[in-house]
Amino acid sequence: MPQKIVTRFAPSPTGYLHIGGARTALFNWLYARGAQAAPGSQFLLRIEDTDRARHSEEAVQAIIEGLTWLGLDWDGEPISQFARADRHTQVAKGLLESGHAYRCWLAGEELDAARTKAREDNIRFTSPWRDHDGATPDGPYSVRLKAPIEGETIIADDVQGEVAFPNSALDDMVLLRSDGTPTYMLAVIVDDQDMGVTHIVRGDDHLINAGRQRQLIDALGWDRPTYAHIPLIHGSDGKKLSKRHGALGVEAYRDEGFLPEGVMNGLLRLGWAHGDEEIIPKDKALEWFDLGGINKAPARLDPEKMAATNAHYVAEMSDEAFIAAATSLLDRKPNDEVHARLVRGASFLKERCQKLTDLETAAGFLLAQRPFELTSKKAKPLNQEGAQKVLLDIHARLSRIGEWSLNQLNLELQGYAEAEGMSFGKVGPPVRAAVTGGHPSPDLGATLYALGKEEVLARLADQL
Ligand code: GLU
Repeated sequence: MPQKIVTRFAPSPTGYLHIGGARTALFNWLYARGAQAAPGSQFLLRIEDTDRARHSEEAVQAIIEGLTWLGLDWDGEPISQFARADRHTQVAKGLLESGHAYRCWLAGEELDAARTKAREDNIRFTSPWRDHDGATPDGPYSVRLKAPIEGETIIADDVQGEVAFPNSALDDMVLLRSDGTPTYMLAVIVDDQDMGVTHIVRGDDHLINAGRQRQLIDALGWDRPTYAHIPLIHGSDGKKLSKRHGALGVEAYRDEGFLPEGVMNGLLRLGWAHGDEEIIPKDKALEWFDLGGINKAPARLDPEKMAATNAHYVAEMSDEAFIAAATSLLDRKPNDEVHARLVRGASFLKERCQKLTDLETAAGFLLAQRPFELTSKKAKPLNQEGAQKVLLDIHARLSRIGEWSLNQLNLELQGYAEAEGMSFGKVGPPVRAAVTGGHPSPDLGATLYALGKEEVLARLADQL
């Protein structure tokens, strides 16, 4: 039964959209937009921009661009956590009034010493101000949650199952710092409540936070959201994902020639499964996605598998769209004539490109500029006996044909071999060497067709 689902993606802007963050965003987006979601469901974007020292507009923009490129649209305007600081403060003050929070003057060395002592005595650190009643100092104070001391806090997580935290392990967290600024934990809870978030899907590095956050939600008497803490992505060696495993930012995948559809499918399969389906286009993902399909074990990022998945979406592109997208990533933009060659060769090229950037190599025979300098190995077919005559005859035949079509070219090549009583093994190699310069190429008819009449004749003439 579809239910009203409100999810959110809450990145801290670091300068790029991390591949792990992109997967979190994707899961949240799919859940709020998919078949499980009743009308009115929403996917929201909140920028956790409270770290002002490191804040930059470009970092926020990088996240917006990454999401936009992937096609993960959010509802309404992105919400700035920093801009909501007054509201966070107001909630903390309400907790003070209701007795669920208290003022704490413990700070600096005194605080460190009290914490160290609690650790050494193996007891919960509890501020002496928690149950203080009487005169209070004038100086700055922080505001702490009066968290339960006994019992445990339980998170019922859709991925991790039931996770229990002994309350003795969760000390009274700070809600407002002594300079009056709200803490991250307070901000998250207040924002999720005000945004009406029903389901929190995020990395399991936040699971421990969930325990503390639940204590705060309970103190406020607010509804508890449903949690799904998803295992982090690891590299193919099973270690925590880092730069040496390859691209970490979504924009790097884009620049490497991945398609958004390919990245989306690849990310979806990182930690979520529907039977053993590998190719799951967007419409199917929206139909099938549910939190129950999320794996409990960390997913491994396999760059080769990502590329193979991408290849599927490359193959589905129209010839024109493929060539336009792939040439936009070339250092040297092809002129109109070369562009037309590429479009004629597109069906072969698509098969050879897992990523758009593979075009440079796959289309070597079309991009190469004549006249070629052939290595002796590559020139071998040109030096075999009778090769010059073949080139001359083929040049003559092809210069006479009116219709430069694949069908006509195949007829000409066959017709020549038959008329001369030669095997095709004698005709093909010198012609291919002359027109491709030894670059990988499709079958000869398709190669000639893609190159175009003028270029073929010129390349043949170069070798005569
Ligand atoms: N800002 C946090 C992060 O980027 C996410 C917090 C959350 O989802 O609750 O890891």
